[in-house]
Amino acid sequence: MRVECEMDNELWGRLKNELVRDIGHNNFVNWIEPLELSESEAGTVTFLVATNFMGDWVQRNFGDKILHLFKSHNHPVKRVNFSVPAVVKPSAPRTQKPAARTNAFGDDTSVPGAPLDPRFTFERFVVGKPNELAHAAARRVAEGNEVTFNPLFLYGGVGLGKTHLMHAIAHELQTMRSDLRVVYLSAEQFMYRFIQALRDKQMMDFKQMFRSVDVLMVDDVQFIAGKDSTQEEFFHTFNALVDQNKQIIISADRAPGEIKDLEERIKSRLQSGLVVDLHPTDYELRLGILQQKVDLHRGQYGNLTIADGVLEFLAHRISNNVRVLEGALMRLFAFASLVGKEITLDLAQDCLADILREADRKVTIEEIQRKVSEHYNIRLSDLIGPRRVRTIARPRQVAMYLAKQLTARSLPEIGRRFGGRDHTTVMHGVRKIEELKGTDSQIAEDIELLRRALEA
Ligand code: ADP
Ligand code: MG
Repeated sequence: MRVECEMDNELWGRLKNELVRDIGHNNFVNWIEPLELSESEAGTVTFLVATNFMGDWVQRNFGDKILHLFKSHNHPVKRVNFSVPAVVKPSAPRTQKPAARTNAFGDDTSVPGAPLDPRFTFERFVVGKPNELAHAAARRVAEGNEVTFNPLFLYGGVGLGKTHLMHAIAHELQTMRSDLRVVYLSAEQFMYRFIQALRDKQMMDFKQMFRSVDVLMVDDVQFIAGKDSTQEEFFHTFNALVDQNKQIIISADRAPGEIKDLEERIKSRLQSGLVVDLHPTDYELRLGILQQKVDLHRGQYGNLTIADGVLEFLAHRISNNVRVLEGALMRLFAFASLVGKEITLDLAQDCLADILREADRKVTIEEIQRKVSEHYNIRLSDLIGPRRVRTIARPRQVAMYLAKQLTARSLPEIGRRFGGRDHTTVMHGVRKIEELKGTDSQIAEDIELLRRALEA
């Protein structure tokens, strides 16, 4: 038995190396590293975890992967199991002390912040219409003066610059207001630290640590929706800091009211400060960002030349998130420097064929109208036409809402495509659906279904 277990341990060590490549460093550190291989018997491999919650999470997210890995190494396992040790000795020495992390200030007072990306500064943030409000609010908070809105809630789709802005605030405070204790971390990390504190019976320390910061930033807060005890703790931390007039900055991929499985009181607290959204990028902003990247990387790739019109082409054709746009440009640079060629339109089209194809698969208003009328079983002409009976008006509002959400079209433009309606009508429709989504589960479900069908 003993020998077998040692072998399993050795195998587990190797499997972990494969896992980290597969699921990424963060997931690995948060979820896999804390696992303790306990026994393998009768086809079941058992790991010890700190809490049931953690066990469930790992089972749901990585259970199959782990099982599959064992099997692929000819291990006779049939299932993997994550369980909390039955008896935990109250004074058992901790096997592993959580490593002290440097916080945004680079000291190691064990405030559990995450490292900052040195590139995410205000200097490198290109401001345009879609993000000017968010940028202005971030700048204001970065002055570190008296707190005027709390929290600052930044939201927007993937790759629109939320994390960049938060890091920029931290960098700025770091240099200008080094007296302030600033902590930046993702909601996922917040949860992990919380669980760790529970496991290690360090809740007092945990609470004290978070309640002693001056500026707390939590990124991607939608992550803690539905995670009850983490939400609860987050809420208490939040309240304690607000009560002390400390600044809180939150980001999420959607507005507070739209985050599912988030407690009402938390939603309303999140809404009580300044809520600003980062809109999808427009052509000018994309071009500005590309231009900036070219300037920054000039030199790094030798004297690359870019033919006229290439940046415009990219800004025009790749309209989704900035990360994709940056990735495209970097690939172009790398490729051109390898083959020592000027970056021309032809080269760009060849080299970026996959990204361009992907970007072409955008949802159109016509598609939305077609899907919505099919879904509600009404005629397309009615959906666009003037009739105002509820059975038609409601689907029309749903379609307008989806057009706003899934396309980059402006309200006036959407209005035009819906039989020449005014932009205020569209706005009213969008608001109405936003409201109903929270109260009418049928509508919420319809929208979810339609969204999935459209994005498939
Ligand atoms: P989010 O957190 O909203 O998903 P990020 O902040 O991670 O997005 O941004 C994705 C990438 O795009 C980052 O590399 C970031 O530097 C870049 N980026 C986003 N917006 C801008 C901008 N306005 N100016 C310069 N770079 C930007
Ligand atoms: Mg982010």
